[in-house]
Amino acid sequence: MIFTLPALPYTYGALEPYIDAKTMEIHHTKHHQAYINQLNQAMVDTSLPEAFDKESLLLNQLITSISSYNQTIRNHAGGHFNHSFFWDSLTPFAPQQPHAGSQLLKAITATFGSFDAFKAAFAKAAAAHFGSGWAWLSIAKTDGRLMITATPNQDNPLMDIIPVEAQGTPILGLDVWEHAYYLCYQNNRLAYIEAFWHVINWGFVEKRFQEVTL
Ligand code: MN
Repeated sequence: MIFTLPALPYTYGALEPYIDAKTMEIHHTKHHQAYINQLNQAMVDTSLPEAFDKESLLLNQLITSISSYNQTIRNHAGGHFNHSFFWDSLTPFAPQQPHAGSQLLKAITATFGSFDAFKAAFAKAAAAHFGSGWAWLSIAKTDGRLMITATPNQDNPLMDIIPVEAQGTPILGLDVWEHAYYLCYQNNRLAYIEAFWHVINWGFVEKRFQEVTL
């Protein structure tokens, strides 16, 4: 087995009442684990580009050259990457926005006009995405600006099959598959998106932003 399920950095109930413990447990132990299992199975018959001693490096390599792999690997490598990324984006100890004076807050304000305008635009992208997928805040590959996009299924902006104007390095992502919210919010995706703002690990998002923009 190449890939393994990462431990969550908090307990399943830690994000309540915004994301409930049962949803977190099923999402982590069933959905995320299933992506990993199927990815490991699909990799058995796949020759690797070179030897990698770190799971995360190999996963990044797969994602950024995903056009070289089949649909099964695209779905499940995407699922593994996106969920690992998502868990790290959440925290029960969340401030409600990036730190005042941070480079990230300056960039968000410069790009979207204000933090509230950014939230509205991100929520709109997450709400408007039809069916399963993800909403992202990324640093665009073309010009280095912040951009909001949505991707279907388990695709993400790092994948080389995404239209080039929507490619970038994600710093925040929201899973809008129904399995991410249905137990607690049923069909009300808007309520789930609203809850998301209460549990974002902005310190982590700022760290990702700094790593790319340095
Ligand atoms: Mn999910």
